[in-house]
Amino acid sequence: MCPSDTAGAVLTIDLGAVAANYRTLRGRLGGARCAAVVKADAYGLGVDRVAPALARAGCETFFVATLDEGVALRALAPASEIHVLNGVTPGCEKTFAGHGLHPVLNDLGQIECWATFARAHGERAAAIHIDTGMCRLGLPPDEVDRVAAEPERLDGLRLNLVISHLACAEQRDNPMNAVQRDAFVARRARLPAARASLANSSAIFLGADYHFDLARPGVALYGVNPTPGEPNPMAEVVRLQSKIIQVRDVDSPQTVGYGATHRIAAPGRIATVPVGYADGYLRSLSGRGFAAIGGVQVPVVGRVSMDLITLDVSALPRDAARPGATVDLIGGACPIDEVAARAATIGYEILTSLGRRYRREYVGAPD
Ligand SMILES: *Cc1c(COP(=O)(O)O)cnc(C)c1O
Repeated sequence: MCPSDTAGAVLTIDLGAVAANYRTLRGRLGGARCAAVVKADAYGLGVDRVAPALARAGCETFFVATLDEGVALRALAPASEIHVLNGVTPGCEKTFAGHGLHPVLNDLGQIECWATFARAHGERAAAIHIDTGMCRLGLPPDEVDRVAAEPERLDGLRLNLVISHLACAEQRDNPMNAVQRDAFVARRARLPAARASLANSSAIFLGADYHFDLARPGVALYGVNPTPGEPNPMAEVVRLQSKIIQVRDVDSPQTVGYGATHRIAAPGRIATVPVGYADGYLRSLSGRGFAAIGGVQVPVVGRVSMDLITLDVSALPRDAARPGATVDLIGGACPIDEVAARAATIGYEILTSLGRRYRREYVGAPD
C-alpha cells in the first residue's frame, strides 16, 4: 500500500523559534519598538502561520512589499499596523483605505496620490521613505527639499513614520552605515515630526545609534545570521530533510549526472535524494553543496537536476547511507548560511526559493 506521506522532503518551520528570535531582537533594542517584515510570504515560510505567531509574541507593526500582501495580511492580523513598502499607485487608494493599510510613500507622485485621496475622503496615516544611498525606493534629496519648501503637499496626511534603508548594514565596519545614518537624521529633520525607522535585521546589531523609534527586521526572525562572520545570535527556524531513495555501487570509474561533470573513482557509492532545483535546491549547488547523514557532512556531486541530487556517500558505512536514511539538507549540520555561501548567494534567497513540493510542518506554535 502506498504510504500516506509520499513527499520527497519535509520542511519543518519552528514558529517557537520565530517568536524567540522576535524577543531576542526586541531585547537588543532598549526602548525602541520592533516591527516585523513579512514580505514575500514571510520570506517563503508562510505568512499565514508566521504573522499570527509574531503577533502573539507581541509584534504590533508589520511591513510587506505589495498591496496584495497587505490585503492578505490584514485578514491574518486584524489589529496590527501594516505598512506597504512599495507604496500607493493611482486607482489603488480605496483598497489601501478599505483595509486600513499604510502606504510607504516613495516619491512626490505617491505623496500627491495619497494626499489627494486624503483631502477628499478624510485624513490618512502615511509613512515616507527617504533614500539615503540605495538609489532604489524613497525620496531623493531634491524631493525632500521640495516637501520641506512646500509643506502643503502633505495636507490631509498624518505622517506617522519616516524610514530609510541601509545598503551595507551586514558589514559592521562599512563607513557607508554612518554616512546614511547622518543623512537620515539631517533629512528627516526637514519633514514634520514623526517616528523614525532605519534598522533592518543587521542594523539592530550596529548599536543604539541605528535603532531610532522602530526597527524593521526580516531575515533574522527566520534564523539567518544578521552578523556574518560572527556567531549567529538567532535560533534556527528552518529544517529541510529528505531520504535517500537509491544507492548506486560504483565498481568501475564513471561519471555522475547531466553533463558528466563529476567523475567518481571505484569503488564508491552514490546516494540519490529526491530534491532538486524545482524545489528551490539551487542548481548553483551542483558540485559545491553538501548534505548531512547522521550528522556527517557528505558532498553533493554532479549537477543538481530538477527533481534529484546525488551525494557521494563512499566515506560512510553502508548501513548509515542506505535507502530510507534521513538526509539533512538545510539546518542541523547544514546551517542555512553555509548552504547559501556554497550556492554563492545569501540566506534570503535560499528561504524565498523554498519549493512547494515539500510537506510543510509547523512546530512550536503557542497554544
Ligand atoms: C526587506 C526589507 C527590510 C528587512 O530586511 P532584513 O535584512 O531582512 O532584516 C527592512 N526594510 C526594508 C525597506 C526592506 O525592503
